Amino acid sequence: MNSERILLVEDERDIQELLKFHLEHEGYAVTAVGTGQDALQALSADSPDLILLDLMLPDISGTDICRRLKATPETSDIPIIMLTAKDSEADIIAGLEMGAIDYVTKPFSPRVLVARIHTALRRPDPDTTDTDVAPLIHIGPLTIDAHRHKVEIKGKEVSLTCTEFRILQILAANPGYAYSREHIVNHIHGESYVVTKRIVDVQMVNLRKKLGRFGDWIETVRGIGYRFKEV
Ligand code: CA
Repeated sequence: MNSERILLVEDERDIQELLKFHLEHEGYAVTAVGTGQDALQALSADSPDLILLDLMLPDISGTDICRRLKATPETSDIPIIMLTAKDSEADIIAGLEMGAIDYVTKPFSPRVLVARIHTALRRPDPDTTDTDVAPLIHIGPLTIDAHRHKVEIKGKEVSLTCTEFRILQILAANPGYAYSREHIVNHIHGESYVVTKRIVDVQMVNLRKKLGRFGDWIETVRGIGYRFKEV
């Protein structure tokens, strides 16, 4: 039995009850709320291990909540899975850009969602991730410090999400080496699953943006994936 805690933010009563039932059956401790305000209140009282966030809430939009959580150090590392309508592609992209780790579109099967939750909660596996990447990487003006979880360019800190950090870390570990999206996904999660190639692409857009004029360090390799520029 695991006792990881999930905050479920969903205003549609039927879906909320169905999900709560399934997740509790899986052994998760679930707190369910129906509004953005209640979600923020629940979060200020206690940090869950994962948040399931409906994007269409009666008060605050899901993307707005996502933005707030990612901007707050206490909540910025909590994985968020968005629950969305099928026709809300723009919201999905916005949510991923805000730092959500994954999404499922309604109607979804609880089994699929539970699988996504398992993946999102999976702690990085030291056998497949950290051991093959040096804890300290220096490339020109760039420093990546895994122990302090810090990225600096010319001594100035670049604020990255956990996922962005891990992507940059693996690419920079081997400049010139082209990594497939699958490999990058594995580095992030420890295993691959369906929607993540697109998520990797979105993360790359964000990462390049945050690297500013050094964004072109990350090169797209057509038909394969990405690599860190050889400098
Ligand atoms: Ca809703």
